Amino acid sequence: MQRIENYINGEFCAPDSGEYLDNVEPATGAVYSQIPESNDQDLSRAVAAAKQAFPTWSSTSIEDRSRLLMKIADAVEAASDELAKAEAIDNGKPVTFAKAVDSYRASANIRFFANACTQFASESHGMGNLAVNYTLRDPIGVVGTISPWNFPLYLFTWKIAPALAAGNTVVAKPSEVTPMTAYLFSKICADAGLPKGVLNILHGSGGNIGQQIVEHQDIKAISFTGGTATGKKLAATAAPMFKKLSLELGGKNPTLVFADCDFDNTVKEVVRAAFSNQGQICLCGSRIYIERSIYDKFKQAFIKQVKQLTIGDPLEKTTQHGALVSKPHMEKVLSYIELAKQEGGKLLTGGNRFTVSGRCEQGFFVEPTVFENLPLDCRTNQEEIFGPVCTLQPFDNDDEALTLANGTDYGLATSVWTNDLKRAHRLSKQLHFGIVWINSWLLRDLRTPFGGVKASGVGREGGFEAMKFFTEPKNVCVKY
Ligand code: NAD
Repeated sequence: MQRIENYINGEFCAPDSGEYLDNVEPATGAVYSQIPESNDQDLSRAVAAAKQAFPTWSSTSIEDRSRLLMKIADAVEAASDELAKAEAIDNGKPVTFAKAVDSYRASANIRFFANACTQFASESHGMGNLAVNYTLRDPIGVVGTISPWNFPLYLFTWKIAPALAAGNTVVAKPSEVTPMTAYLFSKICADAGLPKGVLNILHGSGGNIGQQIVEHQDIKAISFTGGTATGKKLAATAAPMFKKLSLELGGKNPTLVFADCDFDNTVKEVVRAAFSNQGQICLCGSRIYIERSIYDKFKQAFIKQVKQLTIGDPLEKTTQHGALVSKPHMEKVLSYIELAKQEGGKLLTGGNRFTVSGRCEQGFFVEPTVFENLPLDCRTNQEEIFGPVCTLQPFDNDDEALTLANGTDYGLATSVWTNDLKRAHRLSKQLHFGIVWINSWLLRDLRTPFGGVKASGVGREGGFEAMKFFTEPKNVCVKY
């Protein structure tokens, strides 16, 4: 059985405790590897290595840092088939999706920040003949990154790349549910010649090593992506320690479909927005609001396409809908399907665990599921399910659409489907979300600010927002 290793001070090592967690392949339900359950001793060694590496790494020229990150990005791109397959086995997502989205974005993230650090400049503010201010932006020191299982390497690199590009050294923890590609990535970094201690990767469970990373005195900033409940815990620990904190949390995202949309394309894209990655994307549109005059027509076309999604072995190229990430997560999603029925929802399609014959017979598959007749204030429409479950509901006018869209505690992302330019701009202004897509979904420019409001998080990632998070600004005021 393969054993994943920690990556500390440039070396691959077993955990101090000697303890390992089982790593399950979600498509088969079988344990296929083991991951270290790291402890405070592993963390001490990782932080010490990162502290020792910081003075040299932070004073390495931007050009050299950029060149090394480019080398790592190229190596990730060269390994994209292997990484996509590893992600499909570890996570249950279709391998074609993992290649097009996860592998692609992992190398794109690193390449983007390798370039961004060469363009990151400081501001200056003149005070007439009196003085000039300029802002120094220095790296923070040792920073911690904690990431989730839905885009394992994609979100891991989305944090590590700007942290390293800005000159920090890093202690990173991938999700214990999907550790494999972070392990493969540590090998790529070692092969590329990343100096020892600059990046340290600790595996293990969130409540244990994750919590200890947040509590560690010498880790000065934490960049976290994960659930809202975990984010609350993290904030409670980090706030009294005055740590810099970036929280990218859950969502319950609305999709607004107006009668004047481009009908066929909208149906196709709204299906994609609801069910990509088996609905396990923080940005998935799980509350779909449709203008009443086209409600029945849209519903029929939508259900027809949902029923056509091919559920199957993630390693098959034809699979569009793979396994959910774990048994507990599948059970959570199935319990929400029962809840939706109890709350009076009318099941339009799906609703069951799905059996894929052959090697995936024991896998954690759930049919794409659609309900209607559920009010805004029910739990199904208020709580993040994070699976292939969505609800349809009609609306009569823009104001009602807006009230429905804004009517949860979350505020991550929304998409609006209309050809009315004025409406698109007006709603964009009034929708209380960090991201608004007009006639598109998941169209990403890595320079744009990424993140949510309300219970969806604090702070922004992406572009110079990330470079700003991973640096400490200092104003220098020079009197003439
Ligand atoms: P999670 O909160 O359970 O875990 C996320 C990470 O935090 C994991 O690495 C976990 O080990 C760690 N962790 C758990 N408890 C911890 C603690 N007490 N201290 C420190 N670390 C701890 O989330 P998940 O189930 O892995 O991911 C799904 C969630 O992530 C969903 O809510 C989804 O919306 C959210 N998400 C948000 C974004 C975004 O950009 N806003 C992107 C992807 C996923």
